[in-house]
Amino acid sequence: MKYAILGDIHANLEALTAVLEKARDEGVDKFICTGDIVGYNANPRECLEQVRALQPEVVVRGNHDDYASSETELIGFNPQAARVVQWTRDHLAAEDRQWLSQLPLHRTLDSHTTIVHATLDMPGRWGYIFDKLSARASFTYQFTPVCFYGHTHVPGVFDKFGGVTDGSFQETVFEAGHKYMINAGSVGQPRDGDSRAAFLIFEPGEGRIALHRVEYDIKAAQRKIKQAGLPERCATRLALGR
Ligand code: ZN
Repeated sequence: MKYAILGDIHANLEALTAVLEKARDEGVDKFICTGDIVGYNANPRECLEQVRALQPEVVVRGNHDDYASSETELIGFNPQAARVVQWTRDHLAAEDRQWLSQLPLHRTLDSHTTIVHATLDMPGRWGYIFDKLSARASFTYQFTPVCFYGHTHVPGVFDKFGGVTDGSFQETVFEAGHKYMINAGSVGQPRDGDSRAAFLIFEPGEGRIALHRVEYDIKAAQRKIKQAGLPERCATRLALGR
């Protein structure tokens, strides 16, 4: 069994299309999404359709999915962030917003695997796991050997009983008795200095995950952001991977 773990797609249809093509080439059977299908880029509806068409095993709700599907006032948002959220709300159908709002904050897939967007200790507070200290709080609430998450847009592996593997990993083989928090990186807005779309392939039977990076048409995604009137920074950062 091969799962593709996709996270932080962020309405980037060009990146998602390239990643799905690669996943098919790699013989992926099933899909898991760690949240934030929408926000930042210009194709929220199209990306939602693509994700739903995959009939993923699990999709959890990210903070952008949450903002875009609620009516709450955008207090505490900087003006650019508020503009992106409002634009996304305006460009989703009522049924899209309904679908997003019903997604769980975290989900246990089976006896091996948990999925969350931000953290397991307080999943709706949208904290970030950047280091071993913040990973430790989540490990307390992790009752499976493996947890996939996102939110930082930086791929990496935290091992409760071992080291930290940064985004440069290509493959990790699980050790029996260890506990892992694994960040899938971002399909639609990578922030680890590598502009290529990121996703994971997970083979539970082999106890193995591999990080894949895929080139996509960044210029097309940037053009759409500008045409939509979304903030310029959403376009420029794609080429920088920041
Ligand atoms: Zn995100």
